[in-house]
Amino acid sequence: MTRILFWLALALLVYFAIRSKLKQSQRRQQQQWEEQQRAQQRQAQSASREVAQPEAMLRCAHCGVHFPASENVPANGRDYCSPAHAPLK
Ligand SMILES: [Zn+2]
Repeated sequence: MTRILFWLALALLVYFAIRSKLKQSQRRQQQQWEEQQRAQQRQAQSASREVAQPEAMLRCAHCGVHFPASENVPANGRDYCSPAHAPLK
């Protein structure tokens, strides 16, 4: 009788050990998946931010070329693409 109880207890122990291992690996997979999702979201957000904020374009009063507003060289109330095209006075 004690032998049967011993083997039963051992079987239960092995069963619970395997179950907890499976749960651990499932949790790890879930965490990895969530981290991947978060990384993808971050990438998508930064990509959409780049697309959502186009830079204003200006036209050079000298040569007529269009250039980003951040490279503007204002002179005499007009916009120029470079210091070389802006009038000196
Ligand atoms: Zn120009």
